[in-house]
Amino acid sequence: MLTRIDLRGEPVARLGVRTLAGLLPRAELDVEAAVAVVRPVCDDVRGRGAEAVREHTARFDGVDLATTVVPREALADALARLDPAVEAALREAARRARLVHEAQVPAERVTVVADGSSVTERYVPVARAGVYVPGGLVAYPSSVVMNVVPAQAAGVGQIAVASPPQAANGGLPHPSVLAACELLGVTEVHAAGGAQAIAMLGYGTGECAAVDTITGPGNVYVAAAKRLLRGVVGTDAEAGPTEVAIVADGGADAEFVAADLVAQAEHDPLAACLLITTDPGLADRVDAELTRQVATARHAGRVKEALTGQSACVLVGGIDAALAVADAWAPEHLEIQAAGAEDLAGRVRNAGAIFVGPFAPVSLGDYLAGSNHVLPTGGTARHSGGLSVLTFLRGIHVVNCTAPALAAVAPHIDALGGAEDLAAHVRAVRVRLPAGVTRGTGRADGAGEAARAGVAAGAGAAPPLRADLVGRRPYGAPQIDVPVRLNTNENPFPPPVALVRAIAEAAAAQAALLNRYPDRDAVGLRRDLAGYLGRGLKPEQVWAANGSNEIIQQLLQAFGGPGREALGFEPSYSMHPIIARTTSTRWIGRSREAGFGIDADRAVAAIAELRPDLVFVTSPNNPTGTAVPLAVIERICAAAPGMVVVDEAYAEFARDRDATALALLPRYPRLVVVRTMSKAFALAGARVGYLAADRGVVDALQVVRLPYHLSALTQAAARAALARTGELLAAVSAIRAGRDELSSWLRARGLSVADSDANFVLFGTFADRRAVWQGLVDRGVLIREVGPPGWLRVTIGTPREMDAFRTALEEVLRPGDTA
Ligand code: PMP
Repeated sequence: MLTRIDLRGEPVARLGVRTLAGLLPRAELDVEAAVAVVRPVCDDVRGRGAEAVREHTARFDGVDLATTVVPREALADALARLDPAVEAALREAARRARLVHEAQVPAERVTVVADGSSVTERYVPVARAGVYVPGGLVAYPSSVVMNVVPAQAAGVGQIAVASPPQAANGGLPHPSVLAACELLGVTEVHAAGGAQAIAMLGYGTGECAAVDTITGPGNVYVAAAKRLLRGVVGTDAEAGPTEVAIVADGGADAEFVAADLVAQAEHDPLAACLLITTDPGLADRVDAELTRQVATARHAGRVKEALTGQSACVLVGGIDAALAVADAWAPEHLEIQAAGAEDLAGRVRNAGAIFVGPFAPVSLGDYLAGSNHVLPTGGTARHSGGLSVLTFLRGIHVVNCTAPALAAVAPHIDALGGAEDLAAHVRAVRVRLPAGVTRGTGRADGAGEAARAGVAAGAGAAPPLRADLVGRRPYGAPQIDVPVRLNTNENPFPPPVALVRAIAEAAAAQAALLNRYPDRDAVGLRRDLAGYLGRGLKPEQVWAANGSNEIIQQLLQAFGGPGREALGFEPSYSMHPIIARTTSTRWIGRSREAGFGIDADRAVAAIAELRPDLVFVTSPNNPTGTAVPLAVIERICAAAPGMVVVDEAYAEFARDRDATALALLPRYPRLVVVRTMSKAFALAGARVGYLAADRGVVDALQVVRLPYHLSALTQAAARAALARTGELLAAVSAIRAGRDELSSWLRARGLSVADSDANFVLFGTFADRRAVWQGLVDRGVLIREVGPPGWLRVTIGTPREMDAFRTALEEVLRPGDTA
């Protein structure tokens, strides 16, 4: 069945790649001719947007759609109706692909090129990606997985999928495509196909914002439209007809080889299949197998067309020649079914993907290997690789240089700027250096130049910080010395005099014992904390540390770490990802809903998809103030495979104080409720945080805690405060009232205010929030510039402080400030 090309007498290794490739068959795809056809369609969409998409859809797909936007219910409905076996297969395919593609994300690399001079390579995902999924008679939900998973692994914020509408499906794309989108958490799907879909994604319409990168397979018109839009958007490689080359020796199983050739041919009558073998006997056996298998093939017509068209059996004199032929053809898929397959695979230079040995067929790679099935065709594997996270990432060089380091290279810049006659380049460096730094010596005499620049030599030399921490800035809310400080969510009321006295007495008693280490297990304090929390909690279920930040650090040390992942819902407390990073735990941030709440279904889907080792929920949340209903937290607890950490730093300020996750502890042994004495107890300076959890969790934390981490003075101060809970909580009521009053006041001024259950309020939104923040600082009031763009956060202060804030804000706010 296969045409034979006999190269046994040829000096294959000496023929040269182009000559050799010229001897081998392959279908040509005339994309350029199709460009002429699609150009008017793309131009029309660029000019008229959604209206043009609608008209071309009616013309090409025979459906008239009011909008391209596929309703969310249709996605959920498609998944609900999907064959459970297909759903399970897609989930496993996505899980494997996610493992492979997440491992592809390049680490940030810092290269120190000289003392004080470094280049950091940061990989940043595109903001918005468009994925095209062909419809036609057959639809490939596996293509959704292969395109969407790398984009998600790269961290792309928005993903829009476009797939042709089908009249038979009520004008929606193929149900299996919709189901795959739902399963992967894609919420934006457009019913649009062909060139008009590519133009819609690339230029944007009223219904679909323009994307930054478009990927996904398609017919020649889709390829042509992508070629046309290159430059406007990033695209993946141009996909031509699919192809396989199988390098096989006499030991290969002819039935396996033939099955894989037929499988490839099943895709397309233009598919190219090459058997490259050292053994004419195998060639005969494969031919016999092909005759047998093609006769019963489901798509016998196109299989036969492909195998008798641009396909062949190439006979070569030895395995080296076989590899040379494969390299010259540069196949999309290369199978090696020959002795020493693994070593041979290591020698291959040009292939989209290599399948090693008898049990790794291309069909495995099409669906479930975890590798990507979007691969370079038509010989482009000589210069391109398959789809990967890199398709959605851009490497950005971040250049750092100290004054001495700049002085050290200034002579070289003089020389090159001079040679290129770019005097302003030279000056731009020289203006930064003190007069007298040697000019134009051409020597990179770093230390000497630095000394002459008047900067201590070595001042810029960085100690060998862990590479993943280089360039990170320490946490720090700006501390500006102004009269009214409402920026760090502290309790504005100092501890009452009686408590100050009690703390001083307790501290004095401990002072006499400071030659001894403190109680390592803080037994007394934990008993008091358990008593304060109530709900039958035992001291063994409570653990304390230096602030809840240390509690969070211990949790991540014990339950996170290298190879583990933590999921959080953002915007939220910025220390969660920072502490995760310092413990080498990978942080995954998923966004909260519009009103800063957490949607239970979406959270559960994210957990099912990511299977994180820890899930963080902050409630009431910082910086938004919003509380998460207990029912949502319970859904998260039920879905999470690992630990669930509910950070309740602001619990005492909540309007419904019974809605605490403490209530769920008896049912969920992996739930941890984190609290602090920094806020309600007015004890931020003492640094006391604590948690309540199952006893096993507290036992686990003993492994990571430092011995004697909580000083005797801290323990004494905390216990003195716990003995006066009633008094302290009275101040909390005043803060709550102040918060509600302020929220109403802000709303009355037309501002948006997030519903706060904490001791602060997030308000906005401002076109230039920095200007508002600065205006307040200028008037002696410091608040915090955090949260989503346009919002500001103010901590509730004393009544006088709040007056000062209101007066200052009224002065600062001018009509038109709000966005
Ligand atoms: N969790 C949240 C949500 C917070 O906002 C804060 C502090 N602002 C903390 C934990 C840490 O507090 P501390 O270490 O003082 O207990």
